This record gives sequence, structure tokens and C-alpha cells, in this order.
Amino acid sequence: MNSETINTLKENFSGAVILPDDTDYEQARASYAQKGSPAIVLRPKNAAGVATAVHYARNNSLIISIRSGGHSVAGHSTNNGGLVIDLSEINTIDVIDKAKNIVRIGSGATWKKVATSLQEHGLALSSGDSTSVGVGGLALGGGIGWMVRKYGLTIDRMVAAEIVTADGKILRVSAEEHPDLFWAIRGGGGNFGVVTHFEFTAIPVRQVYSGMIIYSLENLPALLTGWRDYMRVSTEDLTVMFLLMPAMMGNPPSAIAWCCYAGDDEAGAKKAIDPLLQIGTVVQNLVIKKNYCDVLEEPHPPQGVKIIVKNGFTEDLSDKLLAEIAAHYGKETSPVLQIRYIGGVLKSIPPGATAFAHRKSEALLVPAMFLPMDISDSDTEKALVPWKKIQPFLSGAYINFFSTATDEDVAAIYPKSTYDRLSKIKKTYDPGNIFNQNYNVKPAK
Ligand SMILES: Cc1cc2nc3c(=O)[nH]c(=O)nc-3n(C[C@H](O)[C@H](O)[C@H](O)COP(=O)(O)OP(=O)(O)OC[C@H]3O[C@@H](n4cnc5c(N)ncnc54)[C@H](O)[C@@H]3O)c2cc1C
Repeated sequence: MNSETINTLKENFSGAVILPDDTDYEQARASYAQKGSPAIVLRPKNAAGVATAVHYARNNSLIISIRSGGHSVAGHSTNNGGLVIDLSEINTIDVIDKAKNIVRIGSGATWKKVATSLQEHGLALSSGDSTSVGVGGLALGGGIGWMVRKYGLTIDRMVAAEIVTADGKILRVSAEEHPDLFWAIRGGGGNFGVVTHFEFTAIPVRQVYSGMIIYSLENLPALLTGWRDYMRVSTEDLTVMFLLMPAMMGNPPSAIAWCCYAGDDEAGAKKAIDPLLQIGTVVQNLVIKKNYCDVLEEPHPPQGVKIIVKNGFTEDLSDKLLAEIAAHYGKETSPVLQIRYIGGVLKSIPPGATAFAHRKSEALLVPAMFLPMDISDSDTEKALVPWKKIQPFLSGAYINFFSTATDEDVAAIYPKSTYDRLSKIKKTYDPGNIFNQNYNVKPAK
């Protein structure tokens, strides 16, 4: 990469070209979890600009990081010495078919912007729990959101996408157009190209009942089994993330059922949520009716710490597993644990329908550890002990909740049959594996 190639690029590229000496560089090189030192950051304004960026990376042998919202905890959306394609300028949100509620969304939009914009049309999409997470990364991995049990994963509402492939071609993919690629991008992450726009069938939801129910920790095993038993018979309208928190920011350890009832009918919400008030001693009930866009919250992770996030699915939240969880989480210094209860409509979709294969699961367990930056390997191992106690009960993993990207992680994300199918599709659309800063699927031989 020399000044001549950069000048030529600037002549042919309509978006921002950010180099290490530029004032914007400090902000442009950082993502949610990492600060990289890329050689160049490009902010294309459309698919043609993305194609120019892809050609530029290829011609200059630069590794490519794709960034939509930049929330990859593993740090995939920045790099050292390569090119970052930052899609934040591709962020429009349009209702393109009012009769069918089809919306077209730029990958670089945040889910808060999506929720706020769709709210005006009385529409919503179940995405994730956080405002600043980007559309691209979440939607290519699956999307486990606040209405997942009623309306499925974010990818289950996807009807088409626009993608720039490794050869710089701009393709529209859907059930009819490049159906293999359409299958792959619904769960296969950023392996197959740069997605610039998605089309989804939005849901006619304006308001929901949502908030936390905070319990006393006096009998955690009974609380956990009571919650699990109720979730097994509850309506799909109700999605609950159960949180076990250590002492944090002046608060004692706590157990929280964070609920979302996917509708605004008071009687239905009361019927669905009231049983959760009977499973333990409630310290605070913060569930209220609110606009769906206000359900999403801005994350405030502790600063200057090393974040370790793991995850695993279970098809059976058994008594033994819950006892193990109660023994190791919800303590003064234990890690945070999210137990995301899924099931619901997910179970009615065949596991092979998309590249997200773990549809038979009852729950996803996600521990998060916030450790000192300079922590030793042996202390990191100690912090992982609670997780290692419950890991034998789990199988499979979700691409979007990892701070690492090891071969073991990739094998957990994709069962062999899914991986083999993805690998063949990768060979067709990215035979040189230029999109490799991700949970990488290698092109079939
Ligand atoms: C605070 C927080 C809360 C979260 N909550 C949830 C949640 O409730 N539910 C849930 O399912 N997930 C959740 N996640 C996980 C989130 O879905 C992933 O971190 C996701 O990758 C973030 O998307 P992004 O666009 O912001 O990330 P980025 O860092 O921009 O992208 C991550 C990776 O995805 C790929 N990618 C991104 N955009 C594109 C694109 N346009 N084309 C091709 N590849 C692309 C690339 O490989 C990229 O490296 C959360 C993460 C955080 C940090």
C-alpha cells in the first residue's frame, strides 16, 4: 500500500478514507472490545463502495475486517495492519412493502435506530437486548432477542439480503436467488461476503410488557427449578433471560428474571408474568408496559478490564445442571451468568433450515467475566472454574457470544453437517478465504 494506490483509491471511492495520521483514526480503529492498528479504514456509502474496498484489499494483500456495529467481543471488527470496512454509513431503514411489513435495513444501523424507526410504523423486529449492537453482526449470527420465543431468531424474519462477494460482485440473495448463499448467511456470520442491506418481515408490535423481577437469593436452587418448571409450560409470548449477578456497583449478588411479554394486552401479560412472582421472594418487580424500542438498553461494561465471554446450549435444563449453577453463580465474586430460555417457535423450525443449527435447545447459557487486564493465566483458569463445572452439561454454541475464536469454538458453533455444507458454499463464493476474520469456515477442498 503506497501513496499512489491510496490516491487512486480516493479518486474512486465516495466514502471516508481514514489513515493512521487522520484525526478520525483514533475512533475508527477501535471497536467495542478492542483497539486495533489497521492500515486503513474505509467507510463506504453503498454496495459499490464496498466492492471498491474489497478490490482494494485484494490488490494490496490486506486482511479484511468487516464492521457493522463493532460489537464483536472477540475483536473481529478491527485488526492490525489490514483494512477495516466500516459500514456505519450504510444505515437506512425503509418500509418497502407496507402490505407485507417488509423492511429494508442497512447493515451499519444500530438495533436502537431500527427499533425507534420501526416504532413509528407500529412495527418491530426481535433482535437483541442492546441499543448499540449493529444490524450486520447480530443478523448474520442468528439474533436472540426479546421476542425470540414468539417470533424466532432475527434470521427467521429475513427474506433477502444484498451482499458483496469476494470477487466484488453485488448479489441479491433470497429463497429464489442464490438460495445456497441465503441459507449460509443466516447463521454463518461474516464468512461469505459483506452484506450491505437486509430485508425482513417485521412484526406488528408497538408496545410490550417488560422489565426485571429481582429475587432474594435465600433459596437459589428452588428459585431456578421453579423458574425452569414455569418456563416449560408458559406461553411463547413470554421470553425470559434469567440473570445471576455477583456483587456489583454497590449492589449485593442477585437473581433476576428479565421478562418481555410480546404484546400490549394487559390481561395476557398479567397471566403470563404473575406466576414468576410466585417462584421466590420478590425484592422488586420492575415490569411495566413500554414501547418496544425502550426495551433495548445501552450496555455499560466495566472499563479497562479483560472481558471473557463463553456460551453453550442445553437441550435439558436438568435439576443436576441447575444445582451446579446454584452452587457456583450468584455469589459475591462469581461471574455474571445469563440463562436465556429459548424453545418456543424455534423448536418448530427444522435445524437444517438455516445455518443456525441449535434449534432444539431449551436454553443458552452465557457467563461473562470482567477480569483485570494483567491477570495471570493461572488466575484466569481459576475464574473459569464455575464455567468448567457446568460445561459438561452443554453442547453446541452461539457464534455471537464469544470473546475467543478458537477451532474448538468453531466446532461448537457448527455441527459437522452444517460446517460441511457451509464449507462447500464458501468454496463457491470465497474460494481464497479472504473473509477470514471471523468464526472461520474454510473453503471445501
Ligand atoms: C453488549 C452486547 C449485547 C449483546 N446482546 C445480544 C443479544 O441480546 N442477542 C444476540 O443475539 N446477540 C447479542 N450480542 C452479540 C452480538 O450479536 C454480536 O457481538 C454481533 O457480532 C455484533 O454485531 P455488530 O454488527 O455490532 O458487530 P461487528 O463487530 O461489527 O461485527 C462482528 C462480525 O460480524 C461479521 N459482520 C458484521 N457485519 C457484517 C456485514 N455487514 N457483512 C458481513 N459480515 C459482517 C464480521 O465477521 C464481523 O467481524 C451482544 C453483544 C454485546 C457486546
